[in-house]
Amino acid sequence: MKISEILNKNVPTLSLEVFPPKTDDKYESVEKSVNEIVELNPDFMSVTYGAAGSTRKYTTAIASNIEKHSVTALAHLTCVNASEETIRKQLGELKEAGIDNILALRGDLPEGVESTDDWVFKHANELTEVIKKYGDFCVGGACYPEKHPEAEHIKTDILNTKRKVDAGCEFLTTQMFFDNNIFYNYLYRLREAGVTVPVIAGIMPVTNAKQMERIIKLSQAFIPRRYVALLDRFSDEPAALKQAAIAYATDQILDLLANGIDHIHIYTMNKPDVAAKIQENLSEIIPSCKKA
Ligand code: FAD
Repeated sequence: MKISEILNKNVPTLSLEVFPPKTDDKYESVEKSVNEIVELNPDFMSVTYGAAGSTRKYTTAIASNIEKHSVTALAHLTCVNASEETIRKQLGELKEAGIDNILALRGDLPEGVESTDDWVFKHANELTEVIKKYGDFCVGGACYPEKHPEAEHIKTDILNTKRKVDAGCEFLTTQMFFDNNIFYNYLYRLREAGVTVPVIAGIMPVTNAKQMERIIKLSQAFIPRRYVALLDRFSDEPAALKQAAIAYATDQILDLLANGIDHIHIYTMNKPDVAAKIQENLSEIIPSCKKA
């Protein structure tokens, strides 16, 4: 099913993200986690794509497996360093694997690989155009409530985000954020700039302190004092920190829903127990979270 249809039903949704293994020997354990997350029957599941396509074959295989279990899959696809022919081939593979939805991303280059001026695709809007040209896919894009780290100003970043929508993105998923007020302000500015597609709020339950260090480095997300205090207090107690992270994420989601934001995406990090607990906390609030 196309994700645009799921989002247009006017019912709150909760989607879950998984990431593929980096190497063959980890495939089985990742597949096991993915299958456990599939059992939770979320509104859809997204599958990330390794930097510059390093885990491409696994993304397609995992997304195809999700679809076989009757859960809608969203395959991420990046375009740095790719030719139009490579992308066209990949789109064919995705279609053949039964995938209807793609998150079109520029991607980051892996460490040590230099960018060049003769890249065919410089930005995600160009990839979106090509996907729309070659296949009948529902396409989504990424957006950044605290601006993309390379963007000089949030205003230019929003205008660049609008280019993706103008190129055919039918929904946007946000980078993770930990302070809902930042998201509300951003959404207002997006709407003011004429971006009208559904915006899915990306929530990350950070279950260990090391993970938080990496997140701050990569996304430059603002961490509210309250979250810092949780990390400080429970950093040596893994079970307590996990419970606190789930409670914080649930609280964020409830506030979003209360403020009319209907679509939530959880950066599950291949943790079925975390995803299950959040679903349980929302079982009377989001239809897909209610279990028989
Ligand atoms: P773009 O939209 O191209 O934006 C990148 C920068 O260029 C921004 O500063 C923007 O303002 C600017 N820009 C955009 N368009 C133009 C234009 N036409 N002209 C001039 N400037 C422009 N990475 C992976 O490798 N694999 C994944 O699976 C993955 N999944 C992600 C999922 C989500 C929800 C998010 C938020 C990010 C994800 N990323 C992933 C990270 C992403 O690849 C990086 O953030 C990357 O640096 C930017 O990708 P983008 O698609 O947002 O790029």
